[in-house]
Amino acid sequence: MLFFVGLWVLPGMSHAEDGQASIYLNDNKLGGSDSSKVEIINKSVMIPIRMVAEEMGYTVGWEQKTGTVTIQQNGTVIKMVINDNNALVDNQSVVLDNAPVIKSKTTLVPLRFVGEQFGLQVSWDNKTKTASLKQLSGSGGESQPPTGSGNAGQGEEGTIDQGLAQISGISFSENRLLVATSSSVTPRVFTMSGPDRIVVDLPNTEFAANFGKDLNVQASGSLQVTDYPLVSQIRYALFSTDPSTVRIVIDMNEVTGYKVTQEGTSLLIVDLNHDTNDLDPEIPEAPLPETPDAGTGTGSGSGKKIVVLDAGHGAHDGGAVGVTGKLEKDFTLSLTLKIEALLQNNSNIEVIMTRDGDTYPELVERAKIANNANADIFISVHANSVAGAPSASGTETYYKKSEDKALADIIHKHMVKATGLKDRKVKSANLSVLRNTDMPAALLEVGFLSNKAEEAILFDQDFQDRVAQSIADGIKEYLKL
Ligand SMILES: [Zn+2]
Repeated sequence: MLFFVGLWVLPGMSHAEDGQASIYLNDNKLGGSDSSKVEIINKSVMIPIRMVAEEMGYTVGWEQKTGTVTIQQNGTVIKMVINDNNALVDNQSVVLDNAPVIKSKTTLVPLRFVGEQFGLQVSWDNKTKTASLKQLSGSGGESQPPTGSGNAGQGEEGTIDQGLAQISGISFSENRLLVATSSSVTPRVFTMSGPDRIVVDLPNTEFAANFGKDLNVQASGSLQVTDYPLVSQIRYALFSTDPSTVRIVIDMNEVTGYKVTQEGTSLLIVDLNHDTNDLDPEIPEAPLPETPDAGTGTGSGSGKKIVVLDAGHGAHDGGAVGVTGKLEKDFTLSLTLKIEALLQNNSNIEVIMTRDGDTYPELVERAKIANNANADIFISVHANSVAGAPSASGTETYYKKSEDKALADIIHKHMVKATGLKDRKVKSANLSVLRNTDMPAALLEVGFLSNKAEEAILFDQDFQDRVAQSIADGIKEYLKL
């Protein structure tokens, strides 16, 4: 695996002074004279590898002639050479932030590399000069078992002889990492900082033979993420061969909460639409159902109800790409224009479009259009996609604020009848346009462009007419018009 890791930037740090630094492994302070030898070199925290590896029960070897440190853990062999940025993990090259160095007869290696290779959560407190390493598996860990998953430790000891699950697709859509698998997996998900990232380890998995053609020979690759400001890129690699483990790293621009769920046995979702400190938000039902007063009108002086329709994506942001290459942005605009035409027949409704051509208003701008217009409701139209799971299908509706729920329920009820697709229900998600609108809002995922049959039907004009009518009906029912 060729596994480039970026600089671990720790601005404003100076060298830890002798005698000050300490290392904690699973909250136990490591003793010995080595513990004071933590150094900051080129902004990377460097720790004494022998002490840490031995403490974890790994075998550490040293070859004086070549300056090679060898660490063996559960069949994986890591080789590092003093003053060389290239390490070998099971004979595959890994590029280190910093080359290992010898200081006072002690070999120091980057803390972050140790964390990534040994599956540890690592952190550095610059005030107290404390490096902290935590093992995440087992009872003392901080991993987040997926909702509804089975035994989190399954297979980790290698005692359960079962076939490996195949990873057939990795994609990122609507702030969710979607991993398609051939059978159920038990992920270990944890965060690392400096830079911030979410690590998803999938034990007992391997890449399917037909996994993305861009997968290089070292079985690693990356997805650049441009449309979601929280995330810079997704990296993935075969991280370990014993047990065979695929690791996916979400490089974050900003810290966020997340929620891990599984749909059936073939789709793992790491949903970033969750606030920090609120990993599993339970959005309460509105204490009183929304009861809009149809007679007086709240939005405009004309007494008309103001409906803002938002066609998802646009311009440079094509959104999801369908099986045959059709774009989500074209579907959303076409359907939204049809809804507009239907609502304009109603003299009690004024429609405002966030876009009516191939343009891209920023997400916050879309919400602002509705807020400035003092709109009564906001509806955002999208289509779904998931790589590697061609059979994923169905219609779902998202809400965020408690006042969104009644609107989402009514629209979804009408829409799912019209699409005739699998009912994926009404779900909560912290999506920008839902969060930033001051009025009831809902985001509709009509169907899956990654499903060949659904892509075809989503672009069918009769289907669009039917779905547009159902959404217009839902809007009118909600507004009591
Ligand atoms: Zn979309």
